Amino acid sequence: MSTIAFIGLGNMGSPMAQNLLASGFNVQVFDLDIEAAKQLQTFGAQVASSLEEAVDGANIVITMLPAGEHVRAVYLGDLHGSVGLIHLVAENTLLIDCSTIDPESARLVANEANNRGLMFVDSPVSGGVAGAKAATLTFIVGGTDQAFSKANAILRYMGKNVFHAGRAGDGQMAKICNNLMLGILMSGTCEALNLGIDHGLDPKVLSNIMLQSSGRNWALELYNPCPGVMDSSPASNHYQPGFMSKLMLKDLGLGLDAALQTHSSTPMGALARNLYAFHNANGNEELDFSSLFEFYKHQR
Ligand code: NAD
Repeated sequence: MSTIAFIGLGNMGSPMAQNLLASGFNVQVFDLDIEAAKQLQTFGAQVASSLEEAVDGANIVITMLPAGEHVRAVYLGDLHGSVGLIHLVAENTLLIDCSTIDPESARLVANEANNRGLMFVDSPVSGGVAGAKAATLTFIVGGTDQAFSKANAILRYMGKNVFHAGRAGDGQMAKICNNLMLGILMSGTCEALNLGIDHGLDPKVLSNIMLQSSGRNWALELYNPCPGVMDSSPASNHYQPGFMSKLMLKDLGLGLDAALQTHSSTPMGALARNLYAFHNANGNEELDFSSLFEFYKHQR
């Protein structure tokens, strides 16, 4: 069985690593937050106290980190002298980054890894914490055909759909397009539900009607932002855990950065980004992104 080093055990990384452990892989975990890593011990993981220790003896590395700066630091090293993992792993190690980051950082890491004879894929995910727990994530992979085929064999243990978007960085670009749309859909879903409530409608009844009508979308179907409508959604658990509003703001920013490069028009994405910027500035950045619903609500 392969030995996998798993770096970044937050809301997503922890359940993903648990699924690998449940499938019988040896998993060596590392997180800057040692408590996050230690929680994996009960599931059979080896807890490493450094990046170097985590990748020692591993033939596959998976990272699930917040943003491009973290991914560049972990793979390539940083200005404070830490050594990047591409300098620590053995030849032929397969490197899989599942974080959502800018395509340029993904291409830079892919290039540096290739220069050292290592295979790297960017493989951001869709499906949220629920998908990570249930091993039903969608992986959106960028990289060579050979790297894709090797990564596919592992990603299958954590998800049900694995797409090959194209070259290195293209997985990130496809994911950025998806999340631009998700940010817009979540804003629209919050807006429509709040309008109905303001006019005396029951949000459960309204949600059911829209689910069978043309307003149906992922946020409404699986992630209803109105507390009490859907027991399993973060909204019914004080907007915990989930996909933090600060990460949605990051992703909408990645969409707008990409649009600048190609002079593409993204008016709805720009509006959604500004809504999340205001929402986060009001102290909500650690809450799930569906908490944007509270932004629309009358503060009665
Ligand atoms: P998170 O903040 O919960 O977890 C990130 C983890 O990385 C933290 O535990 C942090 O301590 C660790 N970390 C940061 N820098 C590190 C370093 N240098 N070395 C080791 N560990 C380090 O975030 P998350 O919700 O798990 O999201 C991770 C990525 O997945 C993000 O890019 C996010 O956009 C993406 N994503 C999240 C969701 C979701 O629903 N939460 C869904 C799809 C994609």
